[in-house]
Amino acid sequence: MKKNLYIVRCGEVALKGMNRPYFERILLERVKNAISCYENAEACWKNGLMLVRVEDSIPMKEVVKRCSKVFGVASVSPAVEAPKDIDAIGKVASDFMMKLIEEEGIKTFKVKGKRADKNFPIQSPEIGKIVGAIILKTCKVLSVDVHNPDCELFVDVRHEGTYIFRDKIKGFGGLPLGTNGRGMILMSGGIDSPVAAFMMAKRGMTIEAVHFHSYPYTSPRAQKKVEDLCAVLAGYMGTIKMHCINLLPIQEQIVQNCPEDETTLLVRRFMMRIAEQIAIKNNNMMLITGEDLGQVASQTAEALVVTDAVVKMPVMRPLIAMDKVDIMEKAQEIGTYEISIQPYEDCCTVFLPKHPCTKPKLENIERSESALDVQTLVDAAVASEEIVVIKPR
Ligand code: ATP
Ligand code: MG
Repeated sequence: MKKNLYIVRCGEVALKGMNRPYFERILLERVKNAISCYENAEACWKNGLMLVRVEDSIPMKEVVKRCSKVFGVASVSPAVEAPKDIDAIGKVASDFMMKLIEEEGIKTFKVKGKRADKNFPIQSPEIGKIVGAIILKTCKVLSVDVHNPDCELFVDVRHEGTYIFRDKIKGFGGLPLGTNGRGMILMSGGIDSPVAAFMMAKRGMTIEAVHFHSYPYTSPRAQKKVEDLCAVLAGYMGTIKMHCINLLPIQEQIVQNCPEDETTLLVRRFMMRIAEQIAIKNNNMMLITGEDLGQVASQTAEALVVTDAVVKMPVMRPLIAMDKVDIMEKAQEIGTYEISIQPYEDCCTVFLPKHPCTKPKLENIERSESALDVQTLVDAAVASEEIVVIKPR
């Protein structure tokens, strides 16, 4: 059984100084986990590079995709190995190019040599020239183009051997999952919150989710949509635990007892309180939302101040200064966009006021809220949670 080789490069993990071994160990675990679906797959560190080997029956694109989805991975390249002998390198490189001619019809190329092992007798620029000349002799259809080649071939001579590779497929970068605390995302079925969760997880945070619905005003299908979004995110983060809460009893109390234009804000304050309680119970240290300054009435600066006032826990809003078009682009990139735009109702839209207050004053909101038994409502909501554990599909 033959195996294909992949080089996995880490991004910021390399900058971690004294903590580097810790980050490297976790990153290796995450990559091993990502390829554990393949029999006999292996991953190890070798002098600062991660080497992954997977049986050659598995399409390379699939392996690259899996590895590049691991947070902390900067780039991935399918590669071949050669001994540390320039003729042998030339031979392996020529075979590699022959395959590319057959598969992709490439016509022009350029070789970039690199000598990490300074005991190797040939310097970096020379490696490129010599290997290029051998390829030209063997692959008659090819010519060199240093400015705009169809294929740039990298020859990396290192202590343990030589790696030859072509594409560097970009990963998401960031830091390995599990190296930066635990956070609770308030997850709607919209475009923003999945992106917010992704961005925090990319910085190493383990994510749990809380979703509010207004059943039977919102349908089970609307919740299924949120589960589908979590399943996409789980492809990056592993299993996601989602806490589901029916907000309807609270919404009804607000609608019956408080000014209409404050409804959305009052609902949001309850969401934050409940999320904080569930976060504490599950050892999460932060709340995360997909709020974006000025996007809607409940996300003006004044509204955010009023929303934040009910919780002690820090609230992360990774999208706060982004434009909606950029958030949408990110959602497309991570694969949540198509699900997010499915037209199912959200609990926030169930009792939407005609003219929501955009510049709320905290004392007014607190006065309106004094008509409600806040603690009892929050406790009942927390006690009624249903938990769904979502795995990648
Ligand atoms: P999104 O695309 O995330 O739904 P949005 O533009 O619809 O955002 P809002 O509905 O005002 O904005 O919600 C702002 C944030 O509040 C969301 O990003 C999310 O973090 C949280 N949120 C809204 N609705 C829910 C819900 N039903 N369950 C949990 N959190 C929610
Ligand atoms: Mg929403």
